[in-house]
Amino acid sequence: MLEIKNLMVFYENSIAVNNISLSVKQRGITGIFGANSAGKSTLMKTISGIILDQKKKQEMKGGERITVLGSITFCGEEISKVLPHQRAKKGIILCPERRRIFAESSVMENLRIGGILATKAEAKRTLDFVFTVFPALKELKRREGGFLSGGEQQMLAIGRALMAQPKLLILDEPLLGLSPLMEQMLVKGIKDINKETQITTIVSEQYARPVLPIITYGYVLENGGAVVDGTSEELMDNPDVKAAYLGM
Ligand code: ATP
Repeated sequence: MLEIKNLMVFYENSIAVNNISLSVKQRGITGIFGANSAGKSTLMKTISGIILDQKKKQEMKGGERITVLGSITFCGEEISKVLPHQRAKKGIILCPERRRIFAESSVMENLRIGGILATKAEAKRTLDFVFTVFPALKELKRREGGFLSGGEQQMLAIGRALMAQPKLLILDEPLLGLSPLMEQMLVKGIKDINKETQITTIVSEQYARPVLPIITYGYVLENGGAVVDGTSEELMDNPDVKAAYLGM
């Protein structure tokens, strides 16, 4: 569904994504793992196109130059020059790092904003689904986003992304800063969403351990390059992955 070939992203002269080629199969969950600064967020922003907005903003300020090279094909179409809002219309939806929900809007308002381009029927069906996967959100419907816990905010961020009717759902470090119990709930939620909706999903995480069991295929990034890839079992059995990312 998504094919990336020889992708390179530079911030000024420093390289953040170094010649990555990867392939995301329809319906599965693809994991992208790597330490701080490995290039995960840059890769997610490049797939969703947000990097093009960032590039434009920087150019208007006369500052840092961002360069993106290589090809990104989504459902057979080359999209590397397509703007982020047009990619969103095609179904590529990013749930960004650190949640970025609207803190002063209620849970319901946040979800409605996510579904602004959906039809009434899609929005209603998805809202019911979000409340089934994350029942806590239903109880908190009227609560302002800023008053939710970290885990609840993450559920809301994923719910809001689902409301946008993704074909490719990109979750950038959804477990960041969560307790082990909340991590488990979120991982189960991500797995259930994938099973029920079959939406192709990409999940990036610094710590692979909680997410490895639910992925269909994964890539490990180091200094911007993809150094290891494999199925969930292959990555779990890889001695380098064990040592570096599983603490074994
Ligand atoms: P984290 O887990 O900290 O989010 P990451 O794997 O997502 O890390 P990126 O945020 O993509 O990594 O960063 C990759 C590299 O690009 C790092 O060296 C980082 O310092 C650099 N970088 C990221 N954003 C910018 C920016 N706006 N300007 C300059 N350099 C940047």
